[in-house]
Amino acid sequence: MSRHTRVAGIVGWPARHSLSPRLHGFWLREHRVDGAYIPLPVRVTDFSAALAGFRAAGLAGVNVTIPHKHAAYAIAQRCDEASRIAGAANLLLFREDEIEARNTDIAGLQASLVAECGPDAFRGIRVVVLGAGGAARAAVLACDALKPAEIFVLNRTERRAATVVHNLDGFVSAKSASGGLEMWDEVGPTTSLVIHATSAGMDGTAPLALDLCLLPADALVCDLVYRPLETPLLAQARHLGLRRIDGLGMLMHQAVPAFEAFYGIRPGVTEGLRAELEQALRE
Ligand code: NDP
Repeated sequence: MSRHTRVAGIVGWPARHSLSPRLHGFWLREHRVDGAYIPLPVRVTDFSAALAGFRAAGLAGVNVTIPHKHAAYAIAQRCDEASRIAGAANLLLFREDEIEARNTDIAGLQASLVAECGPDAFRGIRVVVLGAGGAARAAVLACDALKPAEIFVLNRTERRAATVVHNLDGFVSAKSASGGLEMWDEVGPTTSLVIHATSAGMDGTAPLALDLCLLPADALVCDLVYRPLETPLLAQARHLGLRRIDGLGMLMHQAVPAFEAFYGIRPGVTEGLRAELEQALRE
């Protein structure tokens, strides 16, 4: 560290379990950047005061995670289109006299899907997004950019799925519909991409009881949960010989524009980075 060290970090509660310091730390070393990236645990009630402090202390900006993504959007004076549509931000940049909010989750998931299957693999297909929280909203917007024909949002609480579809109406080109999880039996057999965006199955909690046998043999299963890296849903997909994307894909790709904004270098998503994060998860 020097007098010129650029400092950024991840604000969340809890923030100690975040993989982001490890992720950005890998790139800082790889590119020999005079920078630091630290966990910044902040309670909901302290969010705005903490941000003012980080800004006054000269941080370049912060990533924002659970439970602050909506507050981060609300507190900013300027925002990009993605955060405006999502109503949530995962990146705050401290400018001279304002805070700028961005949402890189949407582009991150989109980049992860394209990296795996190419940009045209999703045209005209049926997508099912499971969940109705912030990750599910990001998933709907990320998928829509890849031009599918239909997006179904299914959630345990059906009303919340309907709200997601209603709120994104006008921003989504694909035909979109919502339902409860029981609708899976009906839509599963003609679905080409399933994105699991609920928190079920995270950290050993009970997974979603979803029968992937219904899917066509060439379907793709994407799980946004990355603790554990192979979730019960991805394990089921592996047993069935289905194509799979784990939650590290989105995590790595959403961090690329954040690192570039903090430190001025656009880093790459490489096998080396993945190995570093897999090691961090094993620890
Ligand atoms: P939210 O808390 O906003 O939403 C949680 C969702 O999960 C709700 O739809 C909720 O349903 C559903 N849910 C929770 N428990 C169950 C259960 N037992 N059975 C069925 N549904 C359940 O969370 P987020 O949207 O912010 O995050 C969701 C997941 O995505 C998290 O695991 C998070 O770690 C992951 N994520 C991964 C990212 C990545 O980079 N890979 C980025 C962002 C998030 P209901 O409405 O009925 O309560």
